[in-house]
Amino acid sequence: MKYVGAHVSAAGGADQAVHRAVEIGANAFALFTKNQRQWQGKPLTEQAIKAFKDACRQHGFKPEQILPHDSYLINLGHPEAEGLQKSRNAFLDEMQRCEQLGLTLLNFHPGSHLNKISEGDCLKRIAESVNEALAQTMGVTAVIENTAGQGTNLGWRFEHLAEIIQHVDDKSRVGVCIDTCHAFAAGYDLRSREATQATLDELGSVVGFEYLRGMHLNDAKSGFASRVDRHHSLGKGNIGLPAFITIMQEPRISGIPMILETVEPEIWDEEIRWLRAQALDAAPGK
Ligand SMILES: [Zn+2]
Ligand SMILES: [Zn+2]
Repeated sequence: MKYVGAHVSAAGGADQAVHRAVEIGANAFALFTKNQRQWQGKPLTEQAIKAFKDACRQHGFKPEQILPHDSYLINLGHPEAEGLQKSRNAFLDEMQRCEQLGLTLLNFHPGSHLNKISEGDCLKRIAESVNEALAQTMGVTAVIENTAGQGTNLGWRFEHLAEIIQHVDDKSRVGVCIDTCHAFAAGYDLRSREATQATLDELGSVVGFEYLRGMHLNDAKSGFASRVDRHHSLGKGNIGLPAFITIMQEPRISGIPMILETVEPEIWDEEIRWLRAQALDAAPGK
């Protein structure tokens, strides 16, 4: 089963994200559980938690179909003690918000070394941050997103993701989310069905599909191996449609949220319909 949706706005409360997902015909969605550009979020009220859980129940969304995304400010590999602690506190708060909402996944960008520590030290620091958060929470999996490798961001090589996982103690609560735009910008070719298959095979051998807990389906305004992160609508960028057909037909990708972060929310409903139609089980009667 392929769960397809988009990163919808949670303005007005997390329950509103559920309704926005329903409006575009999604059976998966992503959301921020607090303002993604601020360190502190207002605590969730009992009322807000109940409204979210009720909306999910009413519309048949299970936790495995929902991929919350953490704040952009957090750097779990921060080279300096103060920045690291601030990030770890904020990440724990994000994990606890997921716990409160009954969610089981939290998507995050691994972190940046800021040219002050080595890549290896930064990756270990990120894993240690994840270990700390997992030790203080229950039931939420930390889902590392691959990045485009802009600036000093790590996580653009599949090897970085594997190395973080290697240093995480509880392997049952760590996973990855692969963003197609980021992978392409980082130098993983997706410009044909064959190239996409090869990239997926590399993901399988370096990280392993058992760790794949989500995908972000984005075309790219940025060029191949440009290390620049610019999303585009499906079929309008430098990746093109064949990659998304291959992904929708890949049997190793199943039961995880597949999320559009494309640049024209007004066509998300069409993009979702098109993606669904590519799946091998999309034929009527199946
Ligand atoms: Zn992201
Ligand atoms: Zn993404």
